[in-house]
Amino acid sequence: MLVVGLLVWVAFTYAQQHKHFTWFILLLFLSIGGRVLVIIYVKKCNEKYLSTFANFYVFGTFILGLDFAVLSYVYFDLQNIELRTFLTIVNLGLITAAISTLAVWMRAYIAFVLPQLIALFSVFMLNENPYAAVTTVLYLIFMMFIARNFNIKFKEGRVLIDENIKLMSDMEKEIVSRKKAQTKLEEYQEELEIVVNDRTRALEKINENLNEQIQKRLIIEEELEYLAYYDELTDMPNRSLFIETLKKSLLQAKRNGSLLGVMFVDLDRFKKINDSHGHFIGDNLLKEVAKRLKSVLRDSDTIARNGGDEFVILSESMKDAREPFVIANKIIEVINQKFEIGGHVIHVGSSVGISLYPLDGDDALELIKMADTAMYEAKKIGSNNFQFYSSAMSNQIKDRLKLENALRVALDRNEFFLVYQPQVNIVTQETYGFEALIRWNSPEFGVISPVKFIPILEETGLIYDVGEWIILEVLDFIKSGKSNNTKVSINLSALQCGVTNYSTQIKRFIDNTGVDPSLVEFEITESLLIGDFSQAEMFLTDISNLGCTIALDDFGTGYTSFEYLTKLPIDVIKIDRSLITDIHVKKNLQNIVKAIVTMSESLGIENVFEGVETADELEMVSRLNGKVIQGYYFSKPLEIDQIDSWFNTPKKSTQSN
Ligand code: C2E
Ligand code: CA
Ligand code: CA
Repeated sequence: MLVVGLLVWVAFTYAQQHKHFTWFILLLFLSIGGRVLVIIYVKKCNEKYLSTFANFYVFGTFILGLDFAVLSYVYFDLQNIELRTFLTIVNLGLITAAISTLAVWMRAYIAFVLPQLIALFSVFMLNENPYAAVTTVLYLIFMMFIARNFNIKFKEGRVLIDENIKLMSDMEKEIVSRKKAQTKLEEYQEELEIVVNDRTRALEKINENLNEQIQKRLIIEEELEYLAYYDELTDMPNRSLFIETLKKSLLQAKRNGSLLGVMFVDLDRFKKINDSHGHFIGDNLLKEVAKRLKSVLRDSDTIARNGGDEFVILSESMKDAREPFVIANKIIEVINQKFEIGGHVIHVGSSVGISLYPLDGDDALELIKMADTAMYEAKKIGSNNFQFYSSAMSNQIKDRLKLENALRVALDRNEFFLVYQPQVNIVTQETYGFEALIRWNSPEFGVISPVKFIPILEETGLIYDVGEWIILEVLDFIKSGKSNNTKVSINLSALQCGVTNYSTQIKRFIDNTGVDPSLVEFEITESLLIGDFSQAEMFLTDISNLGCTIALDDFGTGYTSFEYLTKLPIDVIKIDRSLITDIHVKKNLQNIVKAIVTMSESLGIENVFEGVETADELEMVSRLNGKVIQGYYFSKPLEIDQIDSWFNTPKKSTQSN
């Protein structure tokens, strides 16, 4: 506008038309100033006054358009063709140029161009130049059209910009709200963490309390269990626990086939003591009794207080029925000793009843009841006694104990003696040898079979001394010449063979008597080989090296591995009586014996046939190639003073002769 104003001023000065120019300039600056004011003010202004300012702006534009319009009109009459052309160009130029600034707002554009159009149109018409007037109008219509297009395009652009701006602000808003959400979330998380921590702590506390309570409860349960299963006074299991234990032990004993003993112990005179000395002394006496009972029992035994002055004992995995017998004796002995309680010396006795599994039954309660009954039987006999439930057992064990005690002194009292059973060679009709067999002449029991007392000697360990005595006896017998330089065989218990350096001891015995070792034979049984085989092998080899012979006794009664026969220095097999009895009518026995004979011959081992009692048996044995016979058919075991006559009388004839 200012440039246009400058050009107008140059043109007016050239045409010397200053007088009209002043108010043109004034109007120009006024409208420009107004517009500047509007622009400045609008920026600060409240939105609700925006339309008012807009109207001011349009009005200002209209004044400006009027200013330029009047300019051309006023100087029309000057007839200055250049100036007139110049003004027309200015007006048309402004109309064109205004598109770029005012077309964005069609109202403003029209306000600006309309006065100029009217002015130009009037000037051309007044000047009788209708063509120019029409051209001007057409031009303006054309410009208006362009302006409108511009306006539309601008508005479209504006909309896009607005949208973008909106989008941007939306995005910003979104980002802000997201950030807010994020911080909120973080806050929540923090809060949550705090809550979780609090909760965890609370839970831990609860847990602690719970553990404490469980611990307390366990202790209470333990106490309850103790009360249910233990006797507080003696700190021993009570009857209930005893029954449980017995039941379990019975199951195990059934599986293992072992023996169980139940003992019922009752104190004699306890009631009197309790009444006369008071409960305190009575209680302490029971405690002492419990202690003493424990002291005589094995760790594997179970002892319980049945109630009152009664105790029950379970003796497990016993070797035999004598064990409870021994324990009962110990109990009676230990309780019978004086007690010193609270300054009082107290004497108390006891009675013991014993029941046995499986002999008396297999029910826990029954066994306890039986032991109780047996205890009453023992009490009947008098204080400090014991009794088995089955009286047979009581007697049997008592007998056996008597026997044992008698055996302990038998050797010293010279009650043992040896008998010698001849062995006959039926081919040569000569005496092959003798087997030495022990006899016990007990002044109390009479003559007792070795089958009965040898096991007792073994169990009591007396076999070592007695065994030594037998060897010395036999060596004396050989040395005396009564055996007529035939072999004499000695039965060895497996226990003897297990004694360290027993072979050396035997050698010393033989050397001492000067007996020819080849006249001494030792009989062993398979039981020796079943134990420590290599030890047995060594022992037998030593004996064999001494020059003695070795016989395997009772052959055919057990499982004899033929391997033994090849590995061990065995000279003789003694075929057991069970294979000989009725052999003449038993085909299977004949087959077995035939096989044994064949095998022995191939191994260079001799056979002795034991227990031949009849001529029929002898005949069959002879037919099966048997040569050496030991049996009642020829002779029972002989006492020493019968041996001479044995040699002097002719042998019984054999069928084979
Ligand atoms: P054993 O070693 O098998 O002894 C043979 C047993 O059979 C002897 O019985 C003998 O008298 C018996 N007997 C012999 N011929 C006949 C017969 O024709 N018919 C019948 N029915 N019996 C016959 P005994 O003397 O009673 O000895 C029995 C067992 O005692 C012996 O069996 C042996 O194992 C053991 N024994 C005997 N004396 C001793 C010994 O001094 N020491 C050792 N450790 N054990 C011995
Ligand atoms: Ca024998
Ligand atoms: Ca035998």
